[in-house]
Amino acid sequence: MASLRPTVLRSLPRLASASRVGASATRMTPARLTATATVGMRGYKSKHSPQPLRDVMTGEIIGLPDIDSSLVKITTTTTPKTRPPSSKLIFGHTFTDHMLTIPWSSATGWGTPEIKPYAPLELDPSSTVFHYAFTLFEGMKAYRQEDGTVRLFRPDKNMARMNRSAQRIALPTFNGDELTELIKKLVVLDSEWIPKEKGFSLYIRPTLIGTQNALGVGPSSDALLFVICSPVGPYYASGFKPVQLLATTKFVRAAPGGTGGYKLGANYAPGVVPQKEAAKEGYSQNLWLLGDEHALTEVGTMNLFVAFKQPDGTVELVTPPLDDVVLPGVTRDSVLELAKAHARGETTIPGLPQKLKVSERKLVMADLVNAEKDKTLLEVFGTGTAAIISPVDKIGYEGRDIAIPTGSDGLGDISRAMLDQIVGIQTGEIEHEWSVIANEPNA
Ligand SMILES: *Cc1c(COP(=O)(O)O)cnc(C)c1O
Repeated sequence: MASLRPTVLRSLPRLASASRVGASATRMTPARLTATATVGMRGYKSKHSPQPLRDVMTGEIIGLPDIDSSLVKITTTTTPKTRPPSSKLIFGHTFTDHMLTIPWSSATGWGTPEIKPYAPLELDPSSTVFHYAFTLFEGMKAYRQEDGTVRLFRPDKNMARMNRSAQRIALPTFNGDELTELIKKLVVLDSEWIPKEKGFSLYIRPTLIGTQNALGVGPSSDALLFVICSPVGPYYASGFKPVQLLATTKFVRAAPGGTGGYKLGANYAPGVVPQKEAAKEGYSQNLWLLGDEHALTEVGTMNLFVAFKQPDGTVELVTPPLDDVVLPGVTRDSVLELAKAHARGETTIPGLPQKLKVSERKLVMADLVNAEKDKTLLEVFGTGTAAIISPVDKIGYEGRDIAIPTGSDGLGDISRAMLDQIVGIQTGEIEHEWSVIANEPNA
């Protein structure tokens, strides 16, 4: 496993893109960066830890180090855990042997990445994460094939979204390609934890928290990025059980100008009480609405798709447009891209209707009520990394239930076609540029 050894030679420091307001780091031109780096190579600085970029003439610090995967320090566990049998896995309850941590400070930029045994974090009780919700996360998955190939699915999308989230709450941004490289090393090191059975994968949870030890509300002077991994089975253990939604008017998940379009920790705790209230009425999740027209936004913590039959037989697949009340899901984007390519006739996805129209447009509850009456409501499903596709068979709205058709296996035609296609790409059965190999085959 030569690729897992810490690399001794370090690459040139990159400019950290700290979003911190008032951070002393200034932008510099590539020419200047090269000049400074040359000084570094003459032996000015240590080659083993991140170093600030200094002005070649004055020695003044003009840029802070970004994440540099070549500096990773790897300490493997001496006490590996026993892996539970795949059939016993509960979503997000079991964690692998190792984790990745990368510290950041406004004075020194991104520090040395470390892959080390999974362990509790030690944090000062005054850390900003505990008081003002300086925390954001990502959710992505790794898949292992029979031959040992480990694959990630569209990691660039998660990295871009994580940086957007960081910017929104003044936590530091970073080079996403470098974090992806580190995540690859982590999942390959723990690849024995990735169940090979169909429908199983490794759920990866990159997280970024503010760790400044002071109670003032402001940009955090310190931060910690960490990544943990959890082997998971199919989200719904007993096959594709459709979910029942309660169209919720009493609470809103996200408001215009708010933070619903970012994967911030602060968005999720307030959803638990509405979820419990829906559960009390016999529904599994909330259908989040917005405004007097009861515009549909998301389901639980998933994006929403609805399929309608049009008079000429065309099937229209609709999802609400991305704005600040809808989280830009990677699965949402994948469903849209695949469906659009099929609709354009570029690729044929088995099971999708021949006459398909794909729309990102506003949807209101009256559209669903009318479509149920006209028998033109074909399917409703949620999309997200955890479940991929989650079919819906009932929506409670204003005291009655809207019935939604599903197939005998719980999935509608579009849901099944999309699920098969996406899973095929994720697992490598279908060749696609979205699937990124983390190791060499049979390495
Ligand atoms: C994470 C998330 C989604 C789904 O995003 P994916 O990238 O597809 O996993 C949708 N809605 C909310 C609110 C989310 O947090």
